[in-house]
Amino acid sequence: MKAVTCTDAKLEVVDQPTPTPAKGQLLIDVLRCGICGSDLHARNYCDEVAEAMSETGYPDGMRSHESVVFGHEFCGEVVDYGPGTRKAPKAGTPVVSVPFVRRGNAVHGIGLSAKAPGAYAERLLIEQSLALPVPNGLPAEHAALTEPMAVAWHAVRRSGITKKDVAIVIGCGPVGLAVILMLKAIGVRTVIASNRSPFRRSLATACGADIVVNPSEDSPYASASGHGHLETLPQALDLALGTVEKLHRLRLPWWHVWRAAEAVGAATPKRPVIFECVGVEGIIESIVTGAPLAARVVVVGVCMAADQFRPSMAIFKEIDMRFVLGYTPLEFRDTLHMIADGKVDVTPLVTGTVGLNGVAAAFDALGDPEAHAKILIDPRSDSASPTP
Ligand SMILES: [Zn+2]
Repeated sequence: MKAVTCTDAKLEVVDQPTPTPAKGQLLIDVLRCGICGSDLHARNYCDEVAEAMSETGYPDGMRSHESVVFGHEFCGEVVDYGPGTRKAPKAGTPVVSVPFVRRGNAVHGIGLSAKAPGAYAERLLIEQSLALPVPNGLPAEHAALTEPMAVAWHAVRRSGITKKDVAIVIGCGPVGLAVILMLKAIGVRTVIASNRSPFRRSLATACGADIVVNPSEDSPYASASGHGHLETLPQALDLALGTVEKLHRLRLPWWHVWRAAEAVGAATPKRPVIFECVGVEGIIESIVTGAPLAARVVVVGVCMAADQFRPSMAIFKEIDMRFVLGYTPLEFRDTLHMIADGKVDVTPLVTGTVGLNGVAAAFDALGDPEAHAKILIDPRSDSASPTP
């Protein structure tokens, strides 16, 4: 079979033996595989990622000198299954899968380790237990987006946002766009999106963002004003003192009233929820500086470099910061069904498709934010450059 390998940052189409499924595994024909920003990053910086992973106890992250097949956002068709695999889906069944596979005692991320080749290939192995049949005749080009959409679904769930909260999405690459889609899918009324690129802003609008700003001209945080957020420290102090004074004038024991207000959530300041979907140095500092008081920051973008921000600024504003990673198998499953049931329309995300021989060109094209968001690989196509 054909596969695209990455060795020392070089992408190459090679012939490889088709893998044989072990017990509990399925062999699938790849229908579509998304090119992820993390693949672009891994091409040049996988050693740093592998180093950080090994510090958290996983020693098998990909290394630049290894021959690695990327691809963790895929949809495929069942071809075969390993011996003793019970209740394997019939051949020809379209499936998606959480991209993890067992080898011996270890679990590897598919397309993220040399030990688990990914879907930049005609075929690959997946775990039957993690495979999910694609429902409702959902086309492969949409089913393949289950994985990146599940990342966004996890981020939105972890954010604890409600429909009434204002969401501010910083960065409208595939991750930011997926977050916007999920926020609108759950009915968040005000979603503000920010990106320098006009093309990315037009995609944000297509994904349902209510207000779209160019941060070189307008502040996304200023666009969130008028929603009752506390903007400055004196405002917060004035509110606290003013409330006590008012209750004094009413001759009420202010502490009882305050406690009762706390119990029903009326004493909690209104907060926007800010999604960091950029992942470069300095972005957290710029968010902490620009955000209103009590804002919640959800860090979805992956910045691999050491970064700096002023904790004092986060303290003065009592910023709440959460970091998110991946998704649970349940979130992955629910995401597939949200897409298949039409609760979320992923159409605006895909900007092009290429064959295996066009992967290197697609990586170059993705370097230009004006050109593309998500490019899918179709191993049966021989298109050498991304076409809509
Ligand atoms: Zn990814």
